[in-house]
Amino acid sequence: MDIILPPIDIQYLNLEQQIMKLDKSFEKLEYSKALESDQEAMQWLTKNNNTFGQFVGGKFVSKKNAETITVVNPANNTSLAQIEIADEKLVDLAVKSAGEAQEKWYKSGGHARAKVLYALARLIQKNARVISVLETLDNGKPIRESRDADIPLAVRHFYYHAGWAQLQDSELKNSEPVGVVAQIIPWNFPFLMLAWKISPALAMGNAIVLKPAENTPLTAMFFAGLCEEAGVPAGVINIINGAGATGAALAAHPDVNKVAFTGSTPVGRAIRKSTAGQGKKLTLELGGKSAFVVFEDADLDSVVEGVVDAIWYNQGEVCCAGSRLLVQAGVEEILVKKLKARMANLRFGNPLDKSIDVGSLVSSDQFTQISQMVKEGLKSGGELFSHDQPDSTCNYYPPSIVTDVDSSHPLVQEEIFGPVLVVSSFRTQDEAIKLANNTRYGLAASVWSENINRAMHVAPGLIAGVVWINCHNKFDASCGFGGVKESGYGREGGKEGLFEYLKPVKSEYHSSIMPVRPNGLASKQEIDKTLKFYIGGKQTRPDGGNSVQVLNADGSTAAFVGLGNRKDLRNAVSAAKKAQNWSGKSGHLKAQILYYFAENLSNRKDEFVKRLQTSCGSSKKEATSEFDETISRLFSYAAWADKYDGAAHNAPYRGVTMALPEAIGVIGMIAPEEQPLLNAISLIAPAVAMGNCVVFVAGERHSNIVLELVSVMETSDIPGGVINIIAGDVKELAPHLAGHGEVESVWAWADKEVIKDVETLSAENLKRTWCHENNDRNWLKTQESEGVEFLRQATQVKNIWTPYGD
Ligand code: NDP
Repeated sequence: MDIILPPIDIQYLNLEQQIMKLDKSFEKLEYSKALESDQEAMQWLTKNNNTFGQFVGGKFVSKKNAETITVVNPANNTSLAQIEIADEKLVDLAVKSAGEAQEKWYKSGGHARAKVLYALARLIQKNARVISVLETLDNGKPIRESRDADIPLAVRHFYYHAGWAQLQDSELKNSEPVGVVAQIIPWNFPFLMLAWKISPALAMGNAIVLKPAENTPLTAMFFAGLCEEAGVPAGVINIINGAGATGAALAAHPDVNKVAFTGSTPVGRAIRKSTAGQGKKLTLELGGKSAFVVFEDADLDSVVEGVVDAIWYNQGEVCCAGSRLLVQAGVEEILVKKLKARMANLRFGNPLDKSIDVGSLVSSDQFTQISQMVKEGLKSGGELFSHDQPDSTCNYYPPSIVTDVDSSHPLVQEEIFGPVLVVSSFRTQDEAIKLANNTRYGLAASVWSENINRAMHVAPGLIAGVVWINCHNKFDASCGFGGVKESGYGREGGKEGLFEYLKPVKSEYHSSIMPVRPNGLASKQEIDKTLKFYIGGKQTRPDGGNSVQVLNADGSTAAFVGLGNRKDLRNAVSAAKKAQNWSGKSGHLKAQILYYFAENLSNRKDEFVKRLQTSCGSSKKEATSEFDETISRLFSYAAWADKYDGAAHNAPYRGVTMALPEAIGVIGMIAPEEQPLLNAISLIAPAVAMGNCVVFVAGERHSNIVLELVSVMETSDIPGGVINIIAGDVKELAPHLAGHGEVESVWAWADKEVIKDVETLSAENLKRTWCHENNDRNWLKTQESEGVEFLRQATQVKNIWTPYGD
């Protein structure tokens, strides 16, 4: 970069005057242009006739007269290329080609796959410059960021996951790849998102169909051109272009086994609905409105630089942007003053200029959307400070700060997805946590304080998948990333991210439920009692006052049980919600309670074995082994309660990232019919051991067995509301459970119809689901019915980044 010094006549001044004059001169210094050349990238586009079709089966495929989309450089509104839109036939071809290639790819072994991922990392590094320029041309982000952040981090993902491919056989036993995965990515980090998605899926032996955003497909096309040289077998990676309809067709394709989506919350919700009942795995990484919480004891100069990283990085087009600044009242004025001064020094303009801080928004649509949103939002109050006048001809939206807004202000609640910071204040620590959590999103947050005790106290209280202490927007392949609430579910990166692309190896299993003999053959048996529900630690009668008869295997009456309705379910959820301080109890206490439960249940072995025999028609041997396995399972989860610890990640920065498994909250459960005692404990125990509260809907066929457990629970010191049990018509209750806004996750073993309902309705508050068709596993087999698969479903990992050093 050339620095042009203005002429300075200093020879007649004393030293102090000379320094002052020099100081003044430096203030007036202009930056000269430091443009990165786009020649190589443009040549690559020309070589491809500025037209791209699809990358399917290892080849670029073009269709005559295909509909196209123009790819525009948003920084100057000129056309860069045309991309062809993949229609349903091409989507199908891509999925087929992935399906055909997948098994061979997996069977090639971890080491072979590691070599391919390693080769991809090396090839991206070799082409880093052209990829960075292409990314900047396509997206409008500053070259400084694509060159120094996006591409190096993408490379890191391939290296990191090459390592996991190598270690898969030894470290990830009893699991296998999901199969064909559909990956749909947005435009804000086109190449980095591609790497986040492709590298773990590829490493674990899956085959991929990826759809980039229509605005930014170019670096994905460049990547496709590297695949053959890296040794990716044809069909293992397919990349198709198109708009929303192409994405929708891909997500809903029946031969796709998993969908990984990053983008907006409404589209995430639509994908949840369109894939409901198809048995697909799903991860959703959606929007956010992340809090940036500053306490009075923070280092305010660091805070200012943190804000630059949090909201002006990538033009604020970052899902985890620290867009909501919450500052303690005593330092609000001074911090806002410092921020305005810093904002005025940001340079924004041509993204290819190496000394630019803020570049162009991704498109004129995005420019219009943000401009309108801010304009509309200001009608509800607030004061806007902007860097300079916006330039809509080039989509440069100015870095901005909005002050004087309260927590319900639309600009505080809605994701703007641009370089606009909203500022409000708080007085106490508790208020800070409450305000930070006052959002429907839960992707990320940062805490700023020089008091480590305070920071470490506040971080776990923030409802978000990632929390940064005294930093913001730090990422690494070794640390999981993903949200809670309407920010979606699932994690990308780290060991936890691998499980999103794996499924447990299971045996073929068929139900052992005995058919009930026709009523006419029922033996005469006294009805001993009507079993009640268990809600909030008390036995309760069903709201509707109705009971149903549960039959034994021989058709005789086993018991009458309450018939639950929507109100019973609502009461159970509300009791569970109230009991949520259970998650804060120590692992030791949870273990003690589970052991005590096991001890009390053991004392009633003879009685339960007999019930299992008569109710399920099991032999004495079968009933005894179900009972013994139930006690063993309680012991296992009592053991896990203080041992499922999380991890400390060794990311490449001076600090440590703690990956903490946290309780999910209220988990609703629809139980399978077979082995009713064992499956109830197999589901309830891991959830409770990890600090969740449970609403358990007993399988209709043997609900008497589960409700008999209530009297054991009552004497086992389980706090009221931690476990709630009701029974009734599953088809009627399941939709209420799945649609309930205070249930955070649903586990269901049911028929296809019920599963479809559960998955569809879960889209409302974007709750996690874990659904299975009945008889999917043998509950007696420890390997498939106990352990980390269940613990992972009972927890969500929060990554807390804690840098150290001055
Ligand atoms: P979208 O959610 O619309 O798009 C993300 C990806 O999904 C793109 O590849 C898009 O294709 C595709 N897509 C669109 N509709 C469907 C559908 N019905 N089924 C399957 N795939 C679909 O986000 P946008 O890119 O349009 O951005 C809109 C807003 O989303 C932003 O303003 C921002 O608020 C938020 N957003 C959040 C991101 C995050 O990381 N959390 C990232 C990007 C945006 P196509 O691009 O061709 O439409």
